[in-house]
Amino acid sequence: MNKVILKSALLISLLTNIYSVSANEPTIAIAIHGGAGTISKDKMVGEVKKQYESKLKQAVTAGYQLLEQGKSSQEAIIAAIQILEESPLFNAGKGAVYTYDGKHELDASIMDGKTLNAGAVSGVSTVKSPIMLAKKVMDESVHVMLSGKGAETFAKEKGLTLVDNSYFETKHRYKSLIKAKQKIEKVNKELKDFRAAHESLPDTYKMGTVGAVALDADGNIAAGTSTGGMTAKRYGRVGDSPIIGAGTYANNQSCAVSATGHGEYFIRYHVAADICARVQYQGISLTQAADKVVNGVLKEAGGSGGIIAIDAQGNIAMPFNSKGMYRASKSSITGDYVAIF
Ligand code: ASP
Repeated sequence: MNKVILKSALLISLLTNIYSVSANEPTIAIAIHGGAGTISKDKMVGEVKKQYESKLKQAVTAGYQLLEQGKSSQEAIIAAIQILEESPLFNAGKGAVYTYDGKHELDASIMDGKTLNAGAVSGVSTVKSPIMLAKKVMDESVHVMLSGKGAETFAKEKGLTLVDNSYFETKHRYKSLIKAKQKIEKVNKELKDFRAAHESLPDTYKMGTVGAVALDADGNIAAGTSTGGMTAKRYGRVGDSPIIGAGTYANNQSCAVSATGHGEYFIRYHVAADICARVQYQGISLTQAADKVVNGVLKEAGGSGGIIAIDAQGNIAMPFNSKGMYRASKSSITGDYVAIF
């Protein structure tokens, strides 16, 4: 009898120990996206699908491992985003879409939810990792946003890796540019309206931006986004991705958001900040706020795309109103998740 009691006592103490260790362990989590839009279910099969999924897994795992080592949410999102920037599969860094003039102009931003510090760059064409430049702007400049040549001079001064614009080239994006220009010119001939012709481009031409949001062991959240923008963009067009509040936002009091989709709508509807404001002032859940903005406000306005978001409790939301959105998450509460549709 005594032995039974002793064994039970030992078991209870073991379980209590295990429980209290995991109960005291802080929640860590990361979510990433690789763009939203019309992803063809027929084409996204077999090897192609595997390639996308494995790159998303690699990126989300790299970020999560840093969180496990006690690194900050900022470090985690940068690590994840850089893997996606280096992959030709996504419209950021290598693999960025082409401008109308056949070049690449990249945008990126980052925001820290604890301090509300932020950094952003737009229209850079020789910086290998735009997200790293955004981080440098946040940490080492007196400004929030730098653009074009000035941003590049700053990148050089900070010793970032610079590349020739041709580094970003890929055959599949070039084909998209040729097709996009043909479509634009055809519609423009009929309508004599360049703006309408450009707007008639299906959202496959706008897709592929990358982004990440994370919660670290200190309870701080951060968000970052990096993109080549929209195929055939002109006149130094800047999308939502480098605009704090539109494509990226983070505040420990509410949430961290990274967006992807038709940037003009995300700017006008101030999508990332709107989601966080709803969480903060309406007291609704992250899922409710994100859904209301993406599938309500934005969809009604005709803006296609999606977002990934996280709050300081580790809740994650990843709604989109397009056919698909490349996305993945890894969390100490909910485990692993990768999906496209
Ligand atoms: N939001 C990006 C932009 O408008 C494009 C995208 O997410 O695919 O520049």
